[in-house]
Amino acid sequence: MSFSYEVKEELARLASNPCCQRAELAALVRMAGSIKIAGGPGKATLQVQTEHASTARKVFKLLKKRVKSRVEVATSKNNFFKNHIMYIISVNLEEARDLLKDIGILSENEKRMSLKSSISPMLIKRRCCRRAYLRGAFLGGGSISDPKGPYHMEFVTTGKRHASALSRIISSFGLKAGLMERKNSHMVYLKDGNNIAELLGIMGAHNSLLKFEDIRVMKEMRNSVNRAVNCETANLNKTIEAALRQIKCIKFLKQQKLFDNLPPNLKQVAELRLKFPDLCLKELGQMMSPVLGKSGVSYRLKKIEDIAEKLLSMKGEKQHV
Ligand SMILES: [Zn+2]
Repeated sequence: MSFSYEVKEELARLASNPCCQRAELAALVRMAGSIKIAGGPGKATLQVQTEHASTARKVFKLLKKRVKSRVEVATSKNNFFKNHIMYIISVNLEEARDLLKDIGILSENEKRMSLKSSISPMLIKRRCCRRAYLRGAFLGGGSISDPKGPYHMEFVTTGKRHASALSRIISSFGLKAGLMERKNSHMVYLKDGNNIAELLGIMGAHNSLLKFEDIRVMKEMRNSVNRAVNCETANLNKTIEAALRQIKCIKFLKQQKLFDNLPPNLKQVAELRLKFPDLCLKELGQMMSPVLGKSGVSYRLKKIEDIAEKLLSMKGEKQHV
């Protein structure tokens, strides 16, 4: 069972407030609905299609409450994925006319009927109804990727105006959604883990939210452990590299019989470095008398390196220290 499916299962089973049901149904019809004109005058139907059984049940219930005529449910096999079943909920368009007007999808004057391309502001005045609209939109045309991978949540709708209205609802909750045009559709999407988690909560998918956050925490912890391990390894490599370089320089100075000319404080550090090649600077400092801090040790070793390097360049040798 995919995470997307789990979220839909949870959302489809939520009972909406009476005021929110219009918004939720409007979103479902807008995302997954179509009008089928066939079978002669008066036979046109409003159809809502979904592959998700619980969503089909929800659409059926919501329509049944508001339409007097029979609400029919049929199933068909998906053309592309033969094992997927498509549920088709349909109702006579004439009978659904008042409902469609009520939920801001149809507008009508004396001359003609037309479909509205955006969301009626009346439907989403209240915060609870905006949440319900998002819930319906997700059930009708949303999906979310498995949180173990990259975060992605999207709503796919046909109209451009509807897509931007949907993204405005999302941003009314302080979240950031992107818009993208696909072949024949428009996509509203979220990529940010925080935003997606919040949106799950806003839609009312609290169990899914908990699961999402659990996986997210695990993932982030694993990342930070990896980072810490890499960082320590990097530091360790750096320390070893530096120690090897220092030892080479000291040995070079000895070779050139210049070591004894060094000031005593440098000599002391150099002798310790040679004796204890794998100690870090702090540990070296603690072995000195008087005890010297890490930066003091680092400064003196750097000085020794400088002297050796200067000498090398004076000698014009290309030997790499
Ligand atoms: Zn409401």
